Amino acid sequence: MRLSQIKQVAVIGAGIMGHGFAQVFAQKGFPVFLHDVNKQILKKASLRIASNLDTFIKHGIIRQKEKKAALEKITTSTDLGEAVGKADFVLEAIPEIMDLKKEAFTKLDQLAPPHTILASNTSGLSITEIGAVTRRPEKTIITHGGNPPHIIPVIEIVRGEKTSDETAELTYRLMLKLGKKPVRLLKEVPGFLFNRLQFALYREALHCLEAGVATAEDIDLVVKAGYGFRLPVLGPFETSDFGGLDTFYRICQNLFPLLDASKEPPLSLKKLVGEGKLGVKTGEGFYRYPPAIARRKIKERDRRLLHQLKLFQARK
Ligand code: NAD
Repeated sequence: MRLSQIKQVAVIGAGIMGHGFAQVFAQKGFPVFLHDVNKQILKKASLRIASNLDTFIKHGIIRQKEKKAALEKITTSTDLGEAVGKADFVLEAIPEIMDLKKEAFTKLDQLAPPHTILASNTSGLSITEIGAVTRRPEKTIITHGGNPPHIIPVIEIVRGEKTSDETAELTYRLMLKLGKKPVRLLKEVPGFLFNRLQFALYREALHCLEAGVATAEDIDLVVKAGYGFRLPVLGPFETSDFGGLDTFYRICQNLFPLLDASKEPPLSLKKLVGEGKLGVKTGEGFYRYPPAIARRKIKERDRRLLHQLKLFQARK
């Protein structure tokens, strides 16, 4: 298959990630079937996409007519066969549960045409294992993007043991066509790069909170106004080159033995999850989010991220 032959797309799962990916494809002119098992979620996904596009208009990223054109490209369906029957590229974004992914890939393999690439947005599961349930493991691959996927540029491309060069190359070029920044991993490792790095920081942040080093607000502030403030400009290796590798070496010697190395999620997180305090989606997590505040915070997050996106796209 050639890149120009990827015409029809299907996104499976219309939750946090799926609706955003459907929008990304639609904005680049691809007809997209957005599929979910739940009709209400599909309705909510369409509203979310319209709202995301309104935010794009407000910040000068697109014009009104581009919103209309994008919305016209998206068809929602609870019928998986209808959604993938003519798809050239399928992106799965259902919950991070191996058995669910395997069940979905078994059905996708049966219902999608033989040439179709089956991609997963899994945050860290093995595509070798998921792809093994299909008759086309060479056409399975991971395209892992960050949340919100309609804004965050990077897409990690992870091959399974049997993913073909053709699938990897086509997928890479498709992500470029979508305006994304694809990164090829050289080997398949759990969590890929994005989540290995993100969760190394998360583990230490949770540890500092539990150990009473600072409040959640202040830990978030040290990241946003300190360590994280520099990150859009300098990655960790660039940061250490600028800071001096001798200094970084000494800090590694002093600090590595003291950093948290827990193998389990901390009790504080387990307790919040047990109480149904799942964050923005349930109105409370580490902070409280009554509905009006949740809506305002999501808009504010997107406004700031779009500002950052413009700076990112403007750099050479
Ligand atoms: P979500 O719970 O918001 O959405 C999942 C959707 O899939 C739900 O709407 C659910 O109804 C639907 N679904 C469940 N079973 C299905 C099936 N068999 N067929 C079709 N639809 C089905 O989850 P999410 O946060 O969008 O995560 C989706 C995937 O993306 C996961 O693998 C996750 O690890 C990954 N991911 C999530 C994030 C994040 O920050 N949320 C970031 C990167 C990657």
